[in-house]
Amino acid sequence: MIELDDLRKEYRSGEISVAALQGVSLSIEENEFVAIMGPSGSGKSTMMNILGCLDQPTAGQYRLGGREVSSMTDDELAAVRNRDIGFVFQSFHLLPRLNIVRNVMLPLKYTEMEPEIARDKAVSMLGRVNLANRLDHVPNELSGGQRQRVAIARALVNDPKIIFADEPTGNLDSKTSVEIMELFSELHRAGQTIILVTHEPEIAEYAQKVIHMRDGKVERVEHNAISSH
Ligand code: ADP
Ligand code: ADP
Repeated sequence: MIELDDLRKEYRSGEISVAALQGVSLSIEENEFVAIMGPSGSGKSTMMNILGCLDQPTAGQYRLGGREVSSMTDDELAAVRNRDIGFVFQSFHLLPRLNIVRNVMLPLKYTEMEPEIARDKAVSMLGRVNLANRLDHVPNELSGGQRQRVAIARALVNDPKIIFADEPTGNLDSKTSVEIMELFSELHRAGQTIILVTHEPEIAEYAQKVIHMRDGKVERVEHNAISSH
């Protein structure tokens, strides 16, 4: 599903240049659950931004579902992002004035879907994350874990090929983090491809494969035993 070949990213501002990714090659298969780990500054966010089609590499190849992404224009990149990718963030990124059904409907704005069908789809996704009884609530009326479940429903609503989750438990207590990671595991068992960035080993344990980054390179790839979670 994902093939990276000698991927490089350099940030330049005036005289100063930072080599954030220094030749990353790896592949991620469909229905894999992958965690990207590494110390601060090792290139995780840069990697996530490129994999998530939010940014382009300076050099190297990125193939996503057989298509070469690294030569796409910004518009083509945006189309891939809207159609194929769901994002989950540490701070949820929900719109405070909209109820949770409307929040989950947001990604469907870019599709041709009829509003009633979009609504049904959002409601069914909220059912899948166990929030069917909260449909008319706004984010402020929910706990952190519930808000993250809304964000996960929103990420899933247009059937993305891949879910990218950037420190999805970073704002949650440990009990709630476990609940969220169990939800990701359940989605993975149902066939979802998931790529997660975390600096917490206990969170990375839920993934099948852990990519350890250091200084802009893949230091090692670790395969976890079939998850006991
Ligand atoms: P991580 O997510 O692992 O903390 P990043 O990908 O954010 O790592 O950063 C990798 C390196 O690239 C760091 O040295 C960081 O300072 C640098 N960097 C990241 N984003 C930018 C940017 N927009 N401009 C300049 N340097 C950046
Ligand atoms: P958090 O701190 O919640 O993990 P950030 O605000 O740091 O999230 O965002 C992580 C990255 O995702 C940033 O590069 C940001 O530009 C990008 N981003 C934030 N919100 C969205 C969004 N709704 N859609 C696409 N990209 C986003």
